[in-house]
Amino acid sequence: MSETTETIFSKIIRREIPANIVYEDDLALAFKDIHPQAPVHILVIPKQPIPKLADATPDDATLLGHLLLTVKRVAEEAGLQDGYRVVINTGNDGGQTVYHLHLHILGGRQMAWPPG
Ligand code: AMP
Repeated sequence: MSETTETIFSKIIRREIPANIVYEDDLALAFKDIHPQAPVHILVIPKQPIPKLADATPDDATLLGHLLLTVKRVAEEAGLQDGYRVVINTGNDGGQTVYHLHLHILGGRQMAWPPG
């Protein structure tokens, strides 16, 4: 999968393709994953298109913190009071397929460990 800053997630941010958006603010957007791997599967993305976590810099520290707090907020709003998993697939070996940084929120069932 090639790495470009323009991905399908940029189109979702611009409302050029539909998505089930559950949260938005100036810095972040959260929407339901189109191929859910758990009863609740939501993606949290920065509006700024950082391709992958490995590309983040110290300048992104505030944004990265905001994304984690957005995960917490969205998970609470989704009713995941019994817990949930947060996943960031990074690069080829991490299984990343969309090169716009995103945090998966997975919940609504017991998660297994280790992941595949
Ligand atoms: P990753 O494999 O970590 O890069 O995750 C990319 C995720 O984006 C996958 O879970 C896909 O199901 C999801 N995805 C791809 N296209 C869309 C879309 N148009 N709307 C919502 N989720 C999407």
